[in-house]
Amino acid sequence: MDLQGQTSEQAPFQAGSRHDEQRPALPSADGATPAMAQFLEIKAANPDSLLFYRMGDFYELFFTDAEEASRALGITLTKRGKHAGQDIPMCGVPVHAADDYLQKLIALGFRVAVCEQLEDPAEAKKRGSKAVVRRDVTRLVTPATITEEKLLDPSDTAWLACVARAKADGEIAIAAVDITSGAFRLFGSQSERLMSDLLRIAPREIICAQTLFDDPELRAVWDSFGLMVHPLPATMFDSSQAPQRLASLYGVATMDSFGEYSRAELSAAAGVAAYIECTQIAERPSLQIPQRDTEAGTLFIDGATRNNLELERTLSGKRDGSLYKVIDRTASAGGARLLLERLRAPSTDVATVDERLDAVSWLLANSDLIDRLRAILKSAPDMPRALSRLALNRGGPRDMQAIQKGIETASKLSNDLSGAALEGELITAFEGLIESLPSALLGQLQETLAQELPLLARDGGFVRQGFDDKLDELRALRDESRKVIAGLQANYAQYTGVKSLKIKHNNVLGYFIEVTAQNSAALTEGDEAKALFIHRQTLANAMRFTTTELADLESRIANAAGQALAIELDAFEKTRSAIVEHADQIRAVANALAIIDVSVGFASLAQEQGYCRPTMSGDRQFEVTGGRHPVVEQVMRRRAATPFVANDCDLSPSDGADGGKLWLLTGPNMGGKSTFLRQNALIAILAQTGSFVPAGAARIGVVDKLFSRVGASDDLAQGRSTFMVEMVETSAILNQATDRSLVILDEIGRGTATYDGLAIAWATVEYLHAENKCRTLFATHFHELTTLSSKLENMRNVTIQVKEHDGDVIFLHTVTEGSADRSYGLQVAKLAGLPAAVVGRARDVLSQLENQGSGNKIDALIDDLPLFSTTPPPAPAARKDSHSELVDALERLAPDDLSPREALEELYRLKSLLAGEVHKTR
Ligand code: ATP
Repeated sequence: MDLQGQTSEQAPFQAGSRHDEQRPALPSADGATPAMAQFLEIKAANPDSLLFYRMGDFYELFFTDAEEASRALGITLTKRGKHAGQDIPMCGVPVHAADDYLQKLIALGFRVAVCEQLEDPAEAKKRGSKAVVRRDVTRLVTPATITEEKLLDPSDTAWLACVARAKADGEIAIAAVDITSGAFRLFGSQSERLMSDLLRIAPREIICAQTLFDDPELRAVWDSFGLMVHPLPATMFDSSQAPQRLASLYGVATMDSFGEYSRAELSAAAGVAAYIECTQIAERPSLQIPQRDTEAGTLFIDGATRNNLELERTLSGKRDGSLYKVIDRTASAGGARLLLERLRAPSTDVATVDERLDAVSWLLANSDLIDRLRAILKSAPDMPRALSRLALNRGGPRDMQAIQKGIETASKLSNDLSGAALEGELITAFEGLIESLPSALLGQLQETLAQELPLLARDGGFVRQGFDDKLDELRALRDESRKVIAGLQANYAQYTGVKSLKIKHNNVLGYFIEVTAQNSAALTEGDEAKALFIHRQTLANAMRFTTTELADLESRIANAAGQALAIELDAFEKTRSAIVEHADQIRAVANALAIIDVSVGFASLAQEQGYCRPTMSGDRQFEVTGGRHPVVEQVMRRRAATPFVANDCDLSPSDGADGGKLWLLTGPNMGGKSTFLRQNALIAILAQTGSFVPAGAARIGVVDKLFSRVGASDDLAQGRSTFMVEMVETSAILNQATDRSLVILDEIGRGTATYDGLAIAWATVEYLHAENKCRTLFATHFHELTTLSSKLENMRNVTIQVKEHDGDVIFLHTVTEGSADRSYGLQVAKLAGLPAAVVGRARDVLSQLENQGSGNKIDALIDDLPLFSTTPPPAPAARKDSHSELVDALERLAPDDLSPREALEELYRLKSLLAGEVHKTR
């Protein structure tokens, strides 16, 4: 492609405007040298990207690009020549280390246009001494278009999401393409759901038309994804252009066989195709035919819930401590990616979930296979990514080897599983392996590739001995020639009598004979010597010569090496084409391997952590017996802390009820309320992902939407206070939860005045119960809410047990029927190390407040309560009396002498003593 073509092709890619962006203006090309004029022209076509301008072994950056890159990369900013009377700022990175720099720049949010030399400088010289080497941008590197192994997270997908809206009906579609694996999906969406749909896909980059970007209705969506969103000219999303664009992307004449698409889908697909055209200029990626992904089949989880439940990252952004991290037992990169995808979009289809669970069950029933399969899967290289690099002509011999080893792994696995009465999705995965295994391609790869391979094809040496007779002959000649040279050196040394004579090689002179200056006479004096040795170079201490024989040999060696490399490059190209031709089969095999890996990983997790198979149904059951929190449990186990206390949860509708249950959970601070809420939400997610769950037993009617309102945080960037965020999230739940949903709400109404908060919490409970009718866990410190259970038939009061000892609390973490009448906040504050004086003072204030009753007469409180400095320390003696009464009663007890009835009465008496003491401590 010439410069002219480049410029016109690139023009559509010029980014649209972000309201906050101010790109520095380019210097004018007036009076520029030819080379500078070329640079400025290419840069003008790529104003939105840093231009990596190839000059020999370096990519150079100029002007503001150089200033920005040197700051970002911490590399030296220099100058090169002048333009318009000013120094030209410049910095550069060596080509061989460019990947590392690219990675850093992309991570920092830059986009990079890579401009290569398209001809040998010698070619350019033929056009005249001032001719400039032809250069062109061959690719634009953006977060979703990098394919280099070093730049990618092997266990994560790299989606580019293109959002489009059809003018006619306002329908929204998302086309998502993962260039690194070739996956291409189409999703239907709506403006109110767009945010959660995008979060589910988790793209690295989002593109949309400038018009859509400017739509105020979607502003919040774009703002929340920040710099990841890239607005582009609306012409790139023209749905009428989609058929041609897609046909050209897939290299087919017509798209008829692809199926029917809606206007919005066509527009989104056109955007993807246009973006790929603009960024992957030199080669087109190998992609799957677009597949429609129906939202109806996946669990809706909004952004707040995803974050709060720390599904794939913790709130602080780390993988460690997330649900994904603790359940991931996959052995291959493809398996890890599939697991992440499934976790992002758990299924709502009972049959799909059961297929996945059947596979795990089968593996557990054949547990001797688990370790064996994992060991085989560990050797499965990342085939889809190697394939994508090869298709884009960025791959090397090692990518071919990855395909070879991947197919070998698949064939080993299919041997291990053949004849077994597989179950669930293992059946389809196995069939996929058998049907798609490209055996002929495997044969070709095994015949072609050597064992030890160089990174780049141009280094040669990757074709197997025995693959090509001519190549073997040339290699023999090359190796033979080395022996001949050694022989020649011995002959010349003997002939001249100079024992130290050496035949050496460098890139400038090629092969040459070298002697020290003192010994040079033996080669320069005498007719015979003069006729034999041809002088090449004189150095301070040495002289260099050649001979006709040596020159001949050299050209034979060079020819042999050149011819050998040409044969190897030809073999590389043939193999590359064969691999790309088998792209669909390779992807099918990789997909089957990933499915098997996920199933084996889940089986291994269930075995190791004692998880059980959930019983799935299409009704509104939710009954977990002995449930545990998957992350907290593993952390506690690792720390060898006390074991996690398992708890039951039953939100299934009572007989004849038209809604699921609402459990109102009260209990002490630090008792484990949040943990309990989250563990049940995570159990639902795990089950619908297809995993066994941390419980003794679980019956789960698939959840359509999962909502959580837990934790408090403000969103200052969006102009929302903590309480505002809380209310926005609560209203989203009340507006969207259905009778198939699962809702967990933690401490609603805490961020405002007590009565306002209580009133909101009260009304929320009633609304959830009467309108949403969803399965709900509602944790609160407003103990007043427990009285609602007498009115709301599907509501149950549950509490977390706690024991008191000597004024301190002991957390039992057990959830039981009943309600708490206090939160033990002061005891927890004491545990947290609040100064004793503050705790003592708070105790006094509390007891006064409680004596005031609900009147809340603060004025009277101020009058009655002595000032802080004069507050006497708490009176332990008084408390001790009550406590010792309890201890005395216990000591007097002789359990063996009591009838069951007397024992029960004693128990009641002790409880009333305890209540008396509890009352005194408040
Ligand atoms: P607060 O009302 O103060 O927010 P909380 O009742 O929500 O407290 P959590 O944050 O859920 O309490 O739990 C506090 C700590 O108790 C956890 O960090 C965990 O270490 C421990 N914990 C919670 N549940 C259990 C359990 N079932 N078994 C063992 N330890 C638990």
